[in-house]
Amino acid sequence: MGILDLTAVELGEKIRIGEVGVEEALETVAERIQEREEKLRCYVTLDLEGARAKARLLQKRIQDGEASGPLAGVPFAVKDNLCTKGVRTTCGSRILEGFVPPYDATVVHNLEKAGALILGKTNLDEFGMGNTTERSLAGATHNPWDEERSAGGSSGGSAAAVASGECFAALGTDTGGSIRQPASHCGLVGLKPTYGTVSRYGLIAYCSSMDQAGSITKDVKDCAAVMEAIASYDEKDATSIKRDALDLQSALTEGVRGLRIGIPKDYFGRELQPEVEHAIRAAAEELKAQGAIVEEFELGFVRYAVPTYYTIACAEASSNLERYDGMKYGLREAGKDLHDTYRQTRAKGFGEEVKRRIMLGTFSLSEGYYEQYYLKAMKARRLIKNSFDEAFQSYDLLLGPVAPTTAPHLGAMGEDPIQAYLADIYTVPANLAGIPAMSLPCGRDRQWLPIGLQLMANRFQERTIFRAAAAWEKAFYGFQRAKLGQHDK
Ligand code: GLN
Repeated sequence: MGILDLTAVELGEKIRIGEVGVEEALETVAERIQEREEKLRCYVTLDLEGARAKARLLQKRIQDGEASGPLAGVPFAVKDNLCTKGVRTTCGSRILEGFVPPYDATVVHNLEKAGALILGKTNLDEFGMGNTTERSLAGATHNPWDEERSAGGSSGGSAAAVASGECFAALGTDTGGSIRQPASHCGLVGLKPTYGTVSRYGLIAYCSSMDQAGSITKDVKDCAAVMEAIASYDEKDATSIKRDALDLQSALTEGVRGLRIGIPKDYFGRELQPEVEHAIRAAAEELKAQGAIVEEFELGFVRYAVPTYYTIACAEASSNLERYDGMKYGLREAGKDLHDTYRQTRAKGFGEEVKRRIMLGTFSLSEGYYEQYYLKAMKARRLIKNSFDEAFQSYDLLLGPVAPTTAPHLGAMGEDPIQAYLADIYTVPANLAGIPAMSLPCGRDRQWLPIGLQLMANRFQERTIFRAAAAWEKAFYGFQRAKLGQHDK
């Protein structure tokens, strides 16, 4: 088994005992990047030289016992909407041209404190608005399992980088599914934690009431290790929550006996690809065989989730993106006067989808329409949250698909934004309710494309997700592991 076949935690262990050097691990990944990056385009910015300099220091810190965590020395990638001190951060947008953050996002800081070696910034749809990475200024990322297809989005660069061996694990962000959906399309584990668990300080805002950073990894154990490293209370983020230190590792061996699992019927609509449904139901059967109590039920309100999500997300985006006026940072297109400079800068700096959302958001927040759209969406959000609260009275865990289909062909979403928005139907409810949700591999379709299983739990109940995820993964073990990093159909 080569270095690239190892999970992040396995590699961390080998580095710790001196079997693999930090530089050796880095050069192995650098070689893989050399081979595949031109086609896959996972990264917007690569900083291999910076990583090389850090690798030498890290090796010494590890040998001196100063960096002893499970991720010390492991090559990571970070989504390009997370600020990295001294390394340009683009959000996939022209409007941030030339922006080099003077500080690190708290998640990035936490990851580096754990000894992770960050190689670069990964591709995303502009400001996280999309689900294929086709909305990135840098162009689309390709799926390592089928290069004609999308790696998903918006954290598609992070997912493709992990799946192809261009890093061992990555950070993504999830406002409406952007960690879970690319993880699903690339055969990986992705977790969006409970809102408030991971600091948003330094995460460039799209929709602040739903944005949350999390991990994309090769397996559940890696996911636990990364989450334990990045979760923290942060007074720099007003919505950060003081939680006890996450202990997820110990949940991995607890099993699912007695766990009450609900399957929302609303997650199995006509839009669902039959092979995906089949794989999800098979996973539910397996957990039942392992002692879980599995039942179908009606969650309700899910069909309102997409319009509710897009109304709120666009409203918040229109306000959050006001700051890009050519004055403080990023692009400036000089106009005749101040207002013309604003106009020119924003007209040239933002892509079409971002402009559409700013306009929709501004509309739904304006006088006369506010009650009709924004306020109504906020009420619907409350009803959706209430239905989850009610469901969690009867169930510990909810199980369903992540996305209606496996990875689409690049270009297949066409120009119709509604078609793309509808593909988020199974992921946005968790963001509206602020609950944790994980995507993990559970099979392949006839094209040998990965299928993702989604597990959702009540707020702060990540451990329950990890119990079931580890139990399922064990049953499923070996299926995709053996093929990670290879383009093998
Ligand atoms: N696809 C969704 C959107 O476009 C979710 C994006 C995200 O989670 N960042 O808003």
